[in-house]
Amino acid sequence: MTRFDIITIFPNLFDSFKNEALIARAQKKRIIKINAHNLRKWTEDKHKTVDDKPYGGGVGMVLKLEPIMKAVEAIKEGYRLQVTGYRGKNKKKLDPNLKPDTWNLKTRTIVFSPKGKKFNQQMARRWSKLDQLVLICGRYEGIDERAAKYIADEEVSIGDYVLFGGEVPAMVVMEAVARLIPGAVQKKESIEKESFTIAKELEHPQYTRPEIVEINGKKRKVPKVLLSGNHKKIEEWRKQKTN
Ligand code: SAM
Repeated sequence: MTRFDIITIFPNLFDSFKNEALIARAQKKRIIKINAHNLRKWTEDKHKTVDDKPYGGGVGMVLKLEPIMKAVEAIKEGYRLQVTGYRGKNKKKLDPNLKPDTWNLKTRTIVFSPKGKKFNQQMARRWSKLDQLVLICGRYEGIDERAAKYIADEEVSIGDYVLFGGEVPAMVVMEAVARLIPGAVQKKESIEKESFTIAKELEHPQYTRPEIVEINGKKRKVPKVLLSGNHKKIEEWRKQKTN
């Protein structure tokens, strides 16, 4: 099972994402687990402040480092305790003298930023083998730079554009990673043959019924070869159409 722990100031954004479609099914099958944590939980003042003005001046607010630091630490530690059975229901007995890093939980912490490394299928594949992914979502003008430098293992962008926050990038990453975990997709061959499986290769075009559709007065047909029933020819056509 891969556990996704999201650190966000808008945890409710994940409600329908978690509870619909194949992501919900993957959770029911215990292939993945998604927890959206409210960053405000790790603040100490009565206003639960998570942001502050940028040093050096400028517009907007920046997410503070300390709550993020505490959140990452608490979330990672919490999962270790749960898995190793010192607390919680899972009573898998391990030597209590073992240090956390010898418990062998594979965890990675990601911070989202437009200036991060561009997310791709290779990263998704690598992360699909982890026990836990901690995803830090920025808001406003971003996050104190020290989170990317000293707290996260990787700083990741989902593309060359600027969004309001890191929540949509977190959903993108969770979908891409979850579907690579064995059992998440029913037909294994559908992920074995799809785009980006081989380096940067893109899958051939796909068609479904009806065979002819009228678009702007023109009849748009499915390529004849796909209707031929000749599997060898279909395979050749697909190979030819694979970029
Ligand atoms: N001031 C920042 C800049 O100019 O790069 C933009 C901050 S953005 C409004 C707020 C947050 O949204 C970021 O800290 C990041 O977590 C997230 N975000 C926005 N665009 C993103 C992208 N393309 N990829 C990943 N995260 C993004």
